[in-house]
Amino acid sequence: MLHVEALPDGRQAVLLDLTPVHPVDFAWPDQGADRAWLQVGADQVPVLDCVVGAVKDGRLHLGGAIPVKKGTEGWAFVVAHIVGPEAAVEEGAVVGVQVDASHRAALSAGHTGCHLASLALNRELAGAWRKDVALDAAGHPNFDALAIDTSTILPDGSRDVYRLGKSLRRRGFQPEELLGRLPDVTDRVNAVLAQWTASHAAVAVEREGRGLTDLRRWTCALPEGTVSIPCGGTHVSSLAELVEVRVHLQAEEAAGAVVVTMDTRSLRR
Ligand SMILES: [Zn+2]
Repeated sequence: MLHVEALPDGRQAVLLDLTPVHPVDFAWPDQGADRAWLQVGADQVPVLDCVVGAVKDGRLHLGGAIPVKKGTEGWAFVVAHIVGPEAAVEEGAVVGVQVDASHRAALSAGHTGCHLASLALNRELAGAWRKDVALDAAGHPNFDALAIDTSTILPDGSRDVYRLGKSLRRRGFQPEELLGRLPDVTDRVNAVLAQWTASHAAVAVEREGRGLTDLRRWTCALPEGTVSIPCGGTHVSSLAELVEVRVHLQAEEAAGAVVVTMDTRSLRR
């Protein structure tokens, strides 16, 4: 069952009762939208973009134009499938949905690798803190959460950009413990990732409900213990699906801070 709404730019937003398509969440846009098609009768209608939307009083707000936090009472949070102006989608029709499975699988591998890489980096940098800070799911100071600028999930990989500025230093992080031994940190993170990948640990996404705003958690049964992290993305179901996860770290000066980029490749079997 479908509801269609024309957007100011001429494209159309299609809302469905249920959908398998992963939408971009404006609040944490790390994983991009799935590639997908709507099957409308004999026509395959490409989904040009897929974003989280929110409806109140019959008005649809999309992405960054949503004025409230996800889950706010009185608002319905929906997945908006954006299709072209020419797409013949009629209010109330029944449609099929197809997701590009190979693109999804590549993003899932990239997202799982991203979580593993950030946990391994936090672990390696545990000794670089002079003060107590929030800990990650494995019990190490959460450098990833405290220093992150942007995190982007890519097909079979990810890119995390960390900012080592004054505020991080004030929280007790000693940048030279990373910048002074970048190749060594890279090697040691890769060694931990190799161990974890070889463990073939089970991965699951646990959810409190089937709604878009229900909390979901990524869990992974690592050899040191099971970790659990709130996450709205998609993942592999076992590290056995990955041959290798490897990071490359590099640092550069940027206005008033040093920026460290961690590129992660998650090679699938
Ligand atoms: Zn995630």
